[in-house]
Amino acid sequence: MKPLIVQKYGGATLADPEKIRSVAARVANQSKENSLIVVVSAMGKTTNSLIDLANQVSSHPQRREMDMLLTVGERISMSLMSMALNDLGCPAISFTGSQAGIFTDDSHVNAFIKDVKPFRVEESLKTDKVVILAGFQGVSPATKEITTLGRGGSDTSAVAMAASFNADRCEILKDVPAVFTADPNIVKSARPLQELNYDQLMEMTFWGAKVLHYRSVELAKLRNVTLYIGPASNKTSDGTLVKKGLNMFESCKALSLNSHEMVLGILSKEKNPAKALKELQTLFDQKQIAFPQLLHCEMNADKLEMLLTGPQEIVQAIKKELQNHPQFSLLPTDFSTVTVTCTGATSPEITQQVLNVLADRQLHSHKLMMSAMSVTVLVEAPIRKQVIESLHQLI
Ligand code: ASP
Ligand code: MG
Repeated sequence: MKPLIVQKYGGATLADPEKIRSVAARVANQSKENSLIVVVSAMGKTTNSLIDLANQVSSHPQRREMDMLLTVGERISMSLMSMALNDLGCPAISFTGSQAGIFTDDSHVNAFIKDVKPFRVEESLKTDKVVILAGFQGVSPATKEITTLGRGGSDTSAVAMAASFNADRCEILKDVPAVFTADPNIVKSARPLQELNYDQLMEMTFWGAKVLHYRSVELAKLRNVTLYIGPASNKTSDGTLVKKGLNMFESCKALSLNSHEMVLGILSKEKNPAKALKELQTLFDQKQIAFPQLLHCEMNADKLEMLLTGPQEIVQAIKKELQNHPQFSLLPTDFSTVTVTCTGATSPEITQQVLNVLADRQLHSHKLMMSAMSVTVLVEAPIRKQVIESLHQLI
């Protein structure tokens, strides 16, 4: 039996017809030796353009309708990819998330995958077709509605398929050919990482690494899916392999730098944190805003401050909503986080090094946040790149 591989191609690798044809040629070639499920993202910046369109016709687009709109992006990619493959004499068939049996909960814009029943995918693989699957989407069996998995969610579609089929591996193929020690667009000397374990990559994506959807790594760990992040072109490059363990003993070592570009500070008049959070959730629900990622909460008798992050469109929507709100106000500065993912975070060594570098460069941080595998500083957004460049010397 041929090995079964799930491959996910990111939007940048499918940005125009020529790129789609070149990915199709690669897929056709690999299909000779492998059974393939190919998960596709929307072409280039399609998803952003669709969000812009929605905002031009409505001030509070309903989340249900956003899902109807945004899933179109991946449908375009999947059908074009299938056409290109059939043209090359490689039999292929495309499916939406719901056709492929990706069942989610009934929340819109940020749904969770609850089950996968990929009957049609299975049948098609048996007849030796390449299956092209629209990433980022599913269907709620409870409401029969089409749902999406949150920005970047195609990675999670791919891992869910790989888990469901017990695939030999799940390859996330991108224009950036590996996971790097820092964003190579910011740090010129950033290096590719050849191997990582799930916990390291979970920590990195939690703290803003855009290389993968956080939930896809969590799911891969849960279901023991072998993950590989590599280039979508045929250029030989090692890429990054994500494994269960690593061949090492205890160490105190900085591994990579990640960052949340936009972190909002929200001050609440309600000082009871449970009530304040509930009120914020109700407000966002009313305004059709998906709840962002909560990073930190500072609670004392006279102050309740929450730090939140999320995709640009969510951050902007929140800013708009809270401009003149009676209950919540925004801190006047935009913040960013910069995180050193490391081993040995329980020793003070790396924290001391981070603080030394910032002091040397006179870069001010407002907060230090620790977790099992990371040291995070909260800085004002305008110095984010400087902080990243400076801290990279630790890696
Ligand atoms: N197209 C969606 C997005 O841009 C999903 C994805 O690319 O994974 O967020
Ligand atoms: Mg995309």
